[in-house]
Amino acid sequence: MLSRSLLRLATTPMRRGVRGVDFVRNRFTNKGTAFTLEERRHLNIEGMLPPNVETLEDQVERHWEQFRRFNAPINKYQHLRNVMSTNVTLYYAFVIEHLKESLPIIYTPTVGEACTRYGNLYTNDHGLYIDIENIGNIRKLIRNSRKENVEVIVLTDGSRILGLGDLGVNGIGISIGKTSLYVAAGGISPGRVLPVVMDCGTDNLTLRNNPLYLGTRKRRCDDATFYKLLDEFMEAAKEEWPTAVIQFEDFSNNHCFDMMERYQNKYRCFNDDIQGTGAVVSAGLLSALSQIGATSLADQRIVFFGAGSAATGVAESIADVTAAHFKTTKDEMHKVTYFVDSKGLVTTTRGDTLAKHKVPWARADIPAEDYKKLTSLEEVVEYVKPTVLIGLSAAGGAFTKEIVEHMAANCEHPIIFPLSNPSSKAEIQPSDAYKWSNGKAIVASGSPFPAINLNGRILQPSQGNNLYIFPGVGLGCIIAQPTCIPQEVLVAAALRLAQLPSQADKEAGLLYPPIEQVRAVSTEIAVACIRKMQELGVATVELPDNTPELRKIVKKRMWVPVYAAESHYLSLDLLDSPADQSGSKGLLKEANFRI
Ligand code: NAD
Repeated sequence: MLSRSLLRLATTPMRRGVRGVDFVRNRFTNKGTAFTLEERRHLNIEGMLPPNVETLEDQVERHWEQFRRFNAPINKYQHLRNVMSTNVTLYYAFVIEHLKESLPIIYTPTVGEACTRYGNLYTNDHGLYIDIENIGNIRKLIRNSRKENVEVIVLTDGSRILGLGDLGVNGIGISIGKTSLYVAAGGISPGRVLPVVMDCGTDNLTLRNNPLYLGTRKRRCDDATFYKLLDEFMEAAKEEWPTAVIQFEDFSNNHCFDMMERYQNKYRCFNDDIQGTGAVVSAGLLSALSQIGATSLADQRIVFFGAGSAATGVAESIADVTAAHFKTTKDEMHKVTYFVDSKGLVTTTRGDTLAKHKVPWARADIPAEDYKKLTSLEEVVEYVKPTVLIGLSAAGGAFTKEIVEHMAANCEHPIIFPLSNPSSKAEIQPSDAYKWSNGKAIVASGSPFPAINLNGRILQPSQGNNLYIFPGVGLGCIIAQPTCIPQEVLVAAALRLAQLPSQADKEAGLLYPPIEQVRAVSTEIAVACIRKMQELGVATVELPDNTPELRKIVKKRMWVPVYAAESHYLSLDLLDSPADQSGSKGLLKEANFRI
């Protein structure tokens, strides 16, 4: 917490180099107009601020007005990034207070636009850049960051950002977005999260030709170089920040599965695109199945549109979660599941060499002759008659009116999940799914979409937002310090999430609790994960083995955005006068606060 770190600062030799003005300039200690008159006198900053002293709530209100005045989402994004760079407490107080409105800005869809143009929008950031030119030197780069006690690292190589493809070093935008959500939704302390991007070059020619692109202007490196850099980072990060959990973010298919095999048992890490998405979608599907009264998968037919890392990861997760929930085996899921990729139904008989991750899901019961008639989604829908259709293809608008009408004609409540991000890549607009199914569809999307009024009924699509899962998983890991994060932990998170919608949520057709409750959700997810880590014997911290006690510990551990009390500032031993300050050498560094 900020207050404790300030106290610590006040008792360290660092104070001799600290000037009052540095507390305004440091984004962790700045209170802006909330500095009291006493604090202003003590810090020698009178005159630097307007006379009226405000509360954090007043400041949030002002920023809300300013935020609303920006029309373009990207301008809202830049506004919030400025607040983040100058006053961390205010930034998180704002985001938590206005979570619903901030989320589409700091995360999908606007973060996608920000990543696309990151070099053009760049002013500064607080991330770590590692690159192939520095192989052998990564520990130095880590130390240069002067970050101590890092607890959450979000690492990307920018190779597959949302559904936008290879964005190279611009991918840091996604790591920044995710780390700030760890703070806002998971209560991780803001000084203990670190966005990291691995610059391995980019195959995106438009970016390489953009004069304002900030990454290395080379093609992506080969696999040997990629793993050399990543191995070095993983090892150095574990040694420098032994309590940290590492989240892999938006790595392309050709690496993400192999990375999990390589690191999952050795480091405290997980892949949010595969495992986080898997958990949140599984939870949504369990909720939907419970809403239609299904007691097993036997009567379901599930079609996945898209067979990339996200889709097969989701399918694996649904298989794990439904097996645990319905007390069956994963085979049940395989029996009822069909994948469609750009060549049509994924079968063992279609004559091509399937990527490794597709093989377990390829249908072996489709004769080669039949496959020829199953090369489009429309044909597969007609053939399979799905009850569940999940889109993870990044092919916007692929679920047509005919497809929805066909599903609605064959089942009472078609379950339709257009999960591709950003919104422009969603396979269907939820409003169309409702209209074309006469309001019968149960819909969850990847990006946020508004409610619609259909013949007097308000229909609100759920958002299968990974935010329900990853902050809680990270929080649980920080508290229990597992040696690694087995898949069972993510399954436990999904099972818990599926239990969280209230009766009122269910009656409104929602598959998840409202996003505004995400901090409470994170608490529950963290507790469920810790219980599972204890059961699996991977937790290394001695903790109570009962849920109520754990819940108290988790809640207490969660950071809340409040300014440090006046007494903390007044107890600081500073350089004596403004004249002394001009000669100060000791500019405050974030790390000195050890937040
Ligand atoms: P990917 O590129 O690895 O896979 C895309 C898959 O879709 C491939 O199998 C491809 O063959 C198939 N495909 C693409 N266009 C097609 C078309 N016109 N017809 C048939 N098949 C087509 O991508 P990925 O990593 O699996 O991600 C896919 C999407 O999932 C992205 O938009 C991403 O944003 C989204 N995603 C959403 C969430 C979430 O909602 N929580 C999480 C992770 C990923």
